[in-house]
Amino acid sequence: MSSHPHSFGRFCMQCGQRLASAIPEGDTKRRLVCMDCGFIHYVNPRPVAATIPERADGRILLTRRAIEPRKGTWVFPGGYMDVGETAEEAAIRETLEEAHLEVRDLSLLGVYTRPGPGVVVIVFRAVALGQGRAGHETAEVEWFGPDEIPWGELAFDSTESALRDFVRARMRGASGESF
Ligand SMILES: [Zn+2]
Repeated sequence: MSSHPHSFGRFCMQCGQRLASAIPEGDTKRRLVCMDCGFIHYVNPRPVAATIPERADGRILLTRRAIEPRKGTWVFPGGYMDVGETAEEAAIRETLEEAHLEVRDLSLLGVYTRPGPGVVVIVFRAVALGQGRAGHETAEVEWFGPDEIPWGELAFDSTESALRDFVRARMRGASGESF
């Protein structure tokens, strides 16, 4: 996942005047409002699509981040969606870019919000079609068994929440399955 801080300007993109913080009529929250033309600059979260790729032996792929924020920590492949693609398509594309790994048979694991940076992470379980290797923004890739996940070195709270849900889902499904 690449970094994407709030990049709202302090000037109106409609008329170029300085913005002020105010609660618009009928609203309940402070917004960036142009006192000149009345334009309201809403700052909305950005969706990130990600996969937890699973191998036939039950191991999952994590990538070590080569970029800030949280450089050197582990995360599953994912990134910001582009306009024109579905969440599933974005997750598949990001997995290819960051881990050189093709995945198929995506199923939704969960949706994890990071309110601070304004990110909504949509995480899919996926069947891995290869071994993968480090790609764009990635220092290395590694396959971890459910009992080998580096809990102390994960990138974000959302990473940990998703992996905990994954391990729980795996354990629930394990009773009748091979892994
Ligand atoms: Zn304006």
